[in-house]
Amino acid sequence: MKTEIIKFEGNENDKKYLDKIKKTFENGGLVVFPTETVYGLGGNGLDAKACKKIYEAKGRPSDNPLILHIAENSQLDELVEEVPEVAKKCMEKFWPGPLTMIFKRSKLIPDAVTGGLDTVAVREPSHELANKILKATHLPIAAPSANISGRPSPTKTQHVIHDLDGRVDIIVDGGKSVVGIESTVLDVTVDPPMVLRPGKVTLEDLQKISPDITIDQSTIDSTNKKVPKSPGQKYKHYAPKAEAICFGGNIDKMVLEIQKNIDKNIDKKVAVLASTETIDRYKNADLKIDLGSRQHLEEVARNLFDSLRRCDEENVDLIFAEGYEPIGLGLSIMNRLLKACSGRIVMRI
Ligand code: AMP
Ligand code: MG
Repeated sequence: MKTEIIKFEGNENDKKYLDKIKKTFENGGLVVFPTETVYGLGGNGLDAKACKKIYEAKGRPSDNPLILHIAENSQLDELVEEVPEVAKKCMEKFWPGPLTMIFKRSKLIPDAVTGGLDTVAVREPSHELANKILKATHLPIAAPSANISGRPSPTKTQHVIHDLDGRVDIIVDGGKSVVGIESTVLDVTVDPPMVLRPGKVTLEDLQKISPDITIDQSTIDSTNKKVPKSPGQKYKHYAPKAEAICFGGNIDKMVLEIQKNIDKNIDKKVAVLASTETIDRYKNADLKIDLGSRQHLEEVARNLFDSLRRCDEENVDLIFAEGYEPIGLGLSIMNRLLKACSGRIVMRI
């Protein structure tokens, strides 16, 4: 299939583009569009065939359900059985934005969206262009991250083109994703509600709405052997080609430990993912990537997936990544890093 790349220009052509995207969705086609979290690989969420195409294009396991994206709160009612009070409060505070909620599904939802579960995930993105596209189609659009399954999620158009050129009808070029990691997933079908995947909306943010909200421990604890409650969390994710190891604990000791490992692997091509505060302390690494300041974890989140892909482009053999304190956004970053490292973590406290 020939993939068309569309860039909105802020002129009269935009209406033409929106019409084309709408028709593509209506005809069961696939459109990649930018969102504030990562790029989404979209198809009509009410069309089982379109959803199957999404799984094929990504190589995604069929039991890993999709998130439906909507433009307005009013679209939610027909997709779900009920909207619990806590969900209403979360919608008020965090929609549109990087929070996905799991509801009891309505009969309208095809099995292909939910992987056969009796629940469905829904989100309302805040990205202006995503919102325009969703408003124009007025369909719930199933849109997992627009990467080949297992690879780091795409935060730039080049990432999408690398993974999906020839596998989708349209790719909408929308620049760099602002958040850079996927949405927080909150299950509101259980009492108390539970975070199944940490994201930009933190556990602490959610607990301000309802203090009893919990988090599935298996998403943040590499030693936890329990099966995660969200199907997607059990799969290998975000993995660069190189072997990656994350280092945690006291910062000075962590830097020394990473340097020791760089020195031990002088015959290999080594990359270090560091913070602005520590990057100059590393010597002899082949590639040093500054993810951003520890004082501004939003920067670190925004740059994380791009840095993993850069390591692939540079064909490094080993990646040593600094860890972050697992609170607030740091916890979401560690969730992604641990998966990228297949759970390999070295703690020096
Ligand atoms: P992605 O769209 O690639 O960011 O992945 C969607 C994430 O949401 C995966 O981790 C899924 O397992 C999770 N998810 C989607 N629907 C459900 C559901 N009904 N119950 C639990 N988790 C879900
Ligand atoms: Mg994904």
